[in-house]
Amino acid sequence: MQPARPDPATSVRYLSDARLNLGGAFTDAQREEFGLVGLLPDGYESLEIQLDRARLQFDGQGSDLAKYQYLSALQDRQERLFYALIRSDFERYMPIVYTPTVGEACQKFGHIFRRPKGMYLSVKRRGSLAKVLRNWPVEDVRFIVVTDGERILGLGDQGVCGMGIPVGKLALYTACAGVPPEVALPIVLDLGTNNEAFLADPLYPGLKMPRITGDEYYAFLDEFVAAVQEVFPACCIQFEDFTNKHAIPLLQRYREKVCCFNDDIQGTAAVAVAGLFGASRLSQRPLREQTLLFMGAGSAAVGIADLFVTQLIAEGCSEREAVRACWFVNSRGMVHSKMPRIPDYLERFAHDISHLTFPQGAPSTPDSPLKDLADVVETIRPSAIIGVSTVAHAFNERVVRAMARINARPIIFPLSNPTSKSECTAEEAIKWSDGRAIVASGSPFPPLHFGGKLFVPGQGNNVYIYPAVGMAIYATKATRVTDAMFLRAAESLAAQTTEQDLSVGLIYPPISSILETSVEVAIAVAKLIFQNGLARVPEPDDIAQFVRSQVYEPSF
Ligand code: NAD
Repeated sequence: MQPARPDPATSVRYLSDARLNLGGAFTDAQREEFGLVGLLPDGYESLEIQLDRARLQFDGQGSDLAKYQYLSALQDRQERLFYALIRSDFERYMPIVYTPTVGEACQKFGHIFRRPKGMYLSVKRRGSLAKVLRNWPVEDVRFIVVTDGERILGLGDQGVCGMGIPVGKLALYTACAGVPPEVALPIVLDLGTNNEAFLADPLYPGLKMPRITGDEYYAFLDEFVAAVQEVFPACCIQFEDFTNKHAIPLLQRYREKVCCFNDDIQGTAAVAVAGLFGASRLSQRPLREQTLLFMGAGSAAVGIADLFVTQLIAEGCSEREAVRACWFVNSRGMVHSKMPRIPDYLERFAHDISHLTFPQGAPSTPDSPLKDLADVVETIRPSAIIGVSTVAHAFNERVVRAMARINARPIIFPLSNPTSKSECTAEEAIKWSDGRAIVASGSPFPPLHFGGKLFVPGQGNNVYIYPAVGMAIYATKATRVTDAMFLRAAESLAAQTTEQDLSVGLIYPPISSILETSVEVAIAVAKLIFQNGLARVPEPDDIAQFVRSQVYEPSF
């Protein structure tokens, strides 16, 4: 009689389930127990050895997109190795897993698609979204990052190809702040696409129909949010890359009812305000003496301005004073109180300009006396310009030189992503300001030398904020996400920037230490959650230790 064969389902599971697969790091005892003997080369391979191989393979890829695909496949094959690799060198791997490379990955998603990640909830499934959500194999989902793909980074409508964004964002929750990967669920809502190229492309994997709009759109979102509450009651929803037409109304619709936030609005706001804390330390000019000029007046811009106003009020300014410190330029020119068709959320920042004198001969638009950013700079004389417009090169030489003439240390934040949409490069800002600009960019720019001095441009990337806030929400099972939590995150982040960081112009702690930074931010936010009675777990004696004990460790 033949001896009994090990259950092949077990060995297959240990090799094909990315969460269980340790590659060559299975011990002899595990190999015996799981029926793996002979199914792997017999040498033992530690995490370090496997990391060396992964680095070799990563470096051998011919392009950033190929590197993205390599990492994506590694995540599907060996999850812990994937996270250990990212943590081994954030500066190297983050721009591949997330912006800027993720932008290209989304644009080409239909063509490079190999196996699905996350969930696709389409308008075809209307009426049964809760049932569809139950198909997800994990019961206790605690984080959903969801997009409808309509405004992916600065790249416009990418339809279901926007899936790269929720996938990438959630990977950074884990890599940067320690949220366990099994509680994360990336979702794309397939509500159609208006991207003509995708509609004509046989390889576009989503529904080929125009986007639904109006009441139909909001009814679908209502069903989605209710379905999440029903199926995953402890889950936080992060809205991501919705157009500003929907982003602000959606946040207003759900923020008081369920645990949710919008990273483009609140996360961006917090990282920008943290940058302003750092910049005001460097320029030795307190926040209440700053005047901000936003290029772009969408969700990111208004989110930053709102949080900045909240901070100024907390510092003792009147609301009127605080609001007057924020000015905007949109696609129709400088925003002012008489501009037609001002959206509700922008109204408080649409100032009376009757007392202003404009530069002679400055071009106007049908809706505004000033069209060009440089003329607005000359008129308003801001201390900071913040680019969230997706208009590449908007911070041109004339703009930056004007800022440098008006300010000893001009604050220049080209925050638009990806790199191709950045309002200027870090090098341009440094060069045109004769080395005086304080720079934070949305996409990463390399360190540079100017006038014999080293400059390390900070990356005003939400990744400093949302994974940490997420970790705090995860650890405390928070019931709601408040602006105060984002302000606390901004303060904690800014407080971790050292004098040494500042001395090379870096207004955020270095990305290389993002895990330690994020855990500290998470602890600060968790304390506030307990203080405000928003936690669903009992308050521990030592909150710091409590948060730290829940940080995911990708070890073997
Ligand atoms: P949005 O679509 O809500 O807003 C874009 C704004 O730019 C609109 O107000 C529009 O009127 C304005 N605009 C467009 N063309 C213009 C022009 N020619 N002149 C002046 N203004 C113009 O988008 P959003 O969510 O606010 O994001 C904007 C950009 O900011 C994107 O590139 C996004 O990737 C980036 N962003 C970066 C971060 C970060 O961490 N750095 C975070 C969030 C958003």
